[in-house]
This record gives sequence, structure tokens and C-alpha cells, in this order.
Amino acid sequence: MAKKVLVLAEVRDGELRNVSYEAIAAGKQIADGGEVLALLCGKNVKDLGASLYNYGADRVVAVEDEKLEFYTPDGYFQAVKHVIDTESPDGIVFGHTALGKDLAPRLAARLESGLISDVTGLEQAGDNVVFTRPIFSGKAFEKKLIQDGKLFVTIRPNNIEPLEKDDSRTGETAVVSAEIKDLRTIVKDVVRKASTGVDLSEAKIIVAGGRGVKSTDGFKPLQELADVLGAAVGASRGACDADYCDYSLQIGQTGKVVTPDLYIACGISGAIQHLAGMSNSKVIVAINKDPEASIFSIADYGIVGDLFEVVPLLTEEFKKV
Ligand code: FAD
Repeated sequence: MAKKVLVLAEVRDGELRNVSYEAIAAGKQIADGGEVLALLCGKNVKDLGASLYNYGADRVVAVEDEKLEFYTPDGYFQAVKHVIDTESPDGIVFGHTALGKDLAPRLAARLESGLISDVTGLEQAGDNVVFTRPIFSGKAFEKKLIQDGKLFVTIRPNNIEPLEKDDSRTGETAVVSAEIKDLRTIVKDVVRKASTGVDLSEAKIIVAGGRGVKSTDGFKPLQELADVLGAAVGASRGACDADYCDYSLQIGQTGKVVTPDLYIACGISGAIQHLAGMSNSKVIVAINKDPEASIFSIADYGIVGDLFEVVPLLTEEFKKV
């Protein structure tokens, strides 16, 4: 049955995050021939609408307000709720990002609707859509559906293939006004730590280091490999706890959950808490000098050796490609 689906397109530093396109693809499947309405929130975001049309949105609306320049729970709540109230969608899709994880449950609870979070796949089953999501730190998957009320969904980045870009799909982005008032939080500025520019949670390739890198300097060869591959650098908690790198790089149960096309684990033993954050990666390469390291049990390719020899060799080889 055709449905109307609202997709929140996420903007960071004036650019759309990839998960927005993935959310449109998920929205299309849920809509089942119905309409996918993409929503932009922020300050001067209207022009980003063109790209959302290219990736499959049927209609784009923007709530523009100075107060929405940075994410605040109550500001975005009011903006998205206003559009839900006026458009009355059957389903609402968010990225399973820091923003989506915060906002989707708030709205779902207020609207007394069900929420299925951290979705990694979806399929049609009769009139319903069945969603797959990992449980028990990725050791098992459950399938869920919501039969009544509005359907709120957050999708894990890098799991649902965006639709192919079609430049011939165009449309107008309608600016709607919503009353954003009585904010309890005002964000004046966001200062990000210096990084290589590749966002870890959306990276297609990740080079991750563990306690085996032995020092902050030990991350340098990993960064060089990452630069050649256009990859992001990540880390195990072991490396973060040892102060070799910042906690913002931590991947795992209490860190970021990532699903890149290629994950290169260097000097990481493969503790269950680390696997919880990366075991869904499409291809896993492990470099470890211990042939018994448990990371090899989930790796597609394993290299038994010293990372300080293997990683520079890989960098040299990839430079030739
Ligand atoms: P180690 O286990 O010490 O492994 C280092 C590996 O490097 C070894 O396998 C060794 O053989 C190899 N090595 C050493 N030198 C070299 C070399 N020169 N070349 C190649 N290989 C080498 N961990 C996470 O990662 N993420 C989390 O989110 C997380 N959350 C946790 C939550 C809880 C509640 C708890 C209790 C733990 C959590 N942990 C998490 C910690 C986790 O249990 C492990 O302690 C941690 O992942 C180990 O990190 P590591 O693999 O880098 O270190």
C-alpha cells in the first residue's frame, strides 16, 4: 500500500551527510510507490534540496531558521514536529547518527508511535515492511515491524545503498516556516577536533589501530596508508585508553559503530566489544603478529606479521595503483 514517508536530511558544515541519501532509498522502499518527502532543517539550507531530488526525493521542504543552524533537541523537535503535523506522513526516517538517535525517540514518544532503531536492512512482507537490526552487539539479528501508528525508523549509515544519482530529477524546495521558540539550549558555535576530513562513521575505508601500534607515533604509518586510500583512521579502546589517540576515534560497543566497505585492523586483538562496532564491515583485513588473535576469526583476509613492516609495504603498493 502506497505510503507517505518523511526523511530527515542531515546537514553538517553546510553539506548533506551521505546517510541522507541512504535514508531516501529506505524511504522509497517504505513508501511502496507513495511519496518520499525530504526535510532540510537549518540556516540557508534550501539549495541543498537539488541534490535530494537527484537521489530520489519526490518533494523537498526546508525549515529555515537561524536557531536551527546547529542541532538542539528542542529546536529540531519543533521544526520536525511542525512538518509531521502539517504533512501527516505514515513513516519518518532518520540516520542512526548522534542527531537521529537523540531526535527520533523524542518524536516517536511524543506522537505515541513505535520506533525501530539501528536498521541495517528492510524488505517488503505483504503490506508491511520488515526491518532487520543487530542485537547483542551484532552477534544476532532481529526482524521487526510496526503495524499501527506512525512508523519511526533510524537507519545505520553505510548499510542501505542510495539510489543512483539522476541529474534529470529536479524540483523546487519549498521553504516552510515553523515557530521555533523557548529553546532551553542555545549552541553558539561548534568547534571540531582537527581531523583528516574523512568522517569515521560514513567512511568507505577505515584503517584502525589498536594497542599494537604502541604509541602516538605508531599511528603515523596508519595515517599514511589512510591518506593514500582516502580512508579515515579509527582505533580500538585499547589504543584510546593507552592515550595513543583521541577517544573520538574509538570504534566498538562504547565507541562508534561503523560499516565501511573495507576495514583494515592493525594490531587489534579482536575483543568482542571491538567487534560490536565493526563486524558488519563488508571486507575485513587483519594485520596482527599473533596468529591466534581472535580478529582473524572474522577477517576476510589476514596478514600475520609486524604492522610496522606490513602497513608501509601496503602504502607503497597502493601508491602505485
Ligand atoms: P590488545 O587486546 O592488547 O591487542 C593488541 C594486539 O596487537 C594483540 O593482538 C597483539 O598481538 C597485536 N600486536 C602487538 N604488536 C603488534 C605489531 N607490532 N604488529 C602487529 N600486531 C601487533 N574495546 C574497543 O575496541 N571498543 C569498545 O567500544 C570497547 N568497549 C568496551 C566496553 C566495555 C564495557 C568493556 C569491558 C571493554 C570494552 N572494550 C572496547 C575493551 C576491549 O575489551 C579490549 O580491551 C580492547 O578492544 C583491546 O584493544 P586492542 O585490541 O587494541 O588491545
